[in-house]
Amino acid sequence: MSLIKNSKLQLVLTWVLLTSVLLGIVALLPVGDKVEASAEIKAAPMTAEEPEITSAALLSNQKSNKESESESEAETEAVSVTPVVSVDSTIPAATDLTYDPASRLYDANAQGATVTESAVASIAAELAKSYPKTINYVIQKGDTLGGIFEQLDLSQMSLYQILEVDLNVLALDSIKPGQTLVFTEFEGELTRLELHISLAHQVVYKRSGDDGFEFEQITLEGEWREHSYIGKVEYSFAGSAKKAGLSLYEAQFIASLLKDKINFSRDLRSGDTFKVLVSRQYIGDERTGENRIDAVSINNRSRNISAYLYEGAYYDEAGLSIERAFVRRPVSSKYRISSSFNPNRRHPVTGLLRPHNGTDFAVPIGTPVYATGDGVVSRVLNHKYAGLYIEITNGQTYRTRFLHLSKILVKKGQRIKRGQKIALSGNTGRTTGPHLHYELHVRGRAVNAMTADIPIATAIEKKQQAAFKLALSNYHAAWAQS
Ligand SMILES: [Zn+2]
Repeated sequence: MSLIKNSKLQLVLTWVLLTSVLLGIVALLPVGDKVEASAEIKAAPMTAEEPEITSAALLSNQKSNKESESESEAETEAVSVTPVVSVDSTIPAATDLTYDPASRLYDANAQGATVTESAVASIAAELAKSYPKTINYVIQKGDTLGGIFEQLDLSQMSLYQILEVDLNVLALDSIKPGQTLVFTEFEGELTRLELHISLAHQVVYKRSGDDGFEFEQITLEGEWREHSYIGKVEYSFAGSAKKAGLSLYEAQFIASLLKDKINFSRDLRSGDTFKVLVSRQYIGDERTGENRIDAVSINNRSRNISAYLYEGAYYDEAGLSIERAFVRRPVSSKYRISSSFNPNRRHPVTGLLRPHNGTDFAVPIGTPVYATGDGVVSRVLNHKYAGLYIEITNGQTYRTRFLHLSKILVKKGQRIKRGQKIALSGNTGRTTGPHLHYELHVRGRAVNAMTADIPIATAIEKKQQAAFKLALSNYHAAWAQS
């Protein structure tokens, strides 16, 4: 603790000295030269120390080297009315200051020393370091995290430290153009990184001591507003849905949700009608991009096909489950769990928070890994720490991940059935031995896949019937209103 205090004190002292010296130097600048400001003297936290007095004292020491006393006085005044540190190319040729980069101090007594343009720039740079610097970076098409770090001149070391903690969220693996990264640097070191995924979702990586970063996920509930879309099928469902105001993704989601009930390309006829309720998330009046399909009803000639969201799963009018249920385990039941889900785990050496967001199964390399639910392969990646891994998006609520694989048997974008063999386990990335790390996420948050309340029911239970009927009538009322 005292160490920290001492280093803070040192910083403060350095500040006072630098501020004073800089004032002195600025005072030596020709009057009227105002160039780019790198720090404001006014913002110096040490105003109580009255740097002007110190600088005046310093100035008086330098008088012998000055050509004209009256000039120097005029310049001193210029400083007091222009509280902005100026650095430009018209620096006086010689004074008696020398900059020692090791101590970050100027030695006013060194003989024959000169102040150069670069020396003044160094002071300005040193002063600038005393403030945390924030950089907003909007991710562009084709960007990589490594490339962004290089572009911003951030160290490889901090990149690895960030990737190491991101292993627990893998949020930086799916950065998209338009999302923002906010970097905070202090004294040339990255201290904080924010990934703004949407208005409602951020991941914040914060430096914690020298060993690395910890992370925090910030999710805002916002306000979910329901929108009703009603349309008539003309040529294709996707085209008609788009015309009614739904996105292509939503049309695809509906087709996928109801694929066991209706073949969208073969069974739908011109003149069929559809109704869809979508909840869209807002923060204030701005849409976050997070959407949820609440209800779908399609009149296909004389029959009705529908899906209603109830407690995180979809059911038909009669309360029968539309989605296929999950299984708990992605590997044969003969393998034991070697490490359980633990949101409060800490690193044994550094003490940093390192949540174990999955369940580890002790399996030899090459063990078949099976999909735990129906879905679409949304990521196939090789991560420095997670190794070769797959992510499957299981509908709009669930996501599953399989890490440290040796071989991947599916492709990105491929549709997967529950129980399908998708990979062989391995020992890739940073591990202490061969195992499978399996994660289940519900709406972007990791949950314990072995105990979570996931759709395993095939029908609404008797005691839930009344509540389900009420939800249904609310959906129908929303359509009737629009
Ligand atoms: Zn694990």
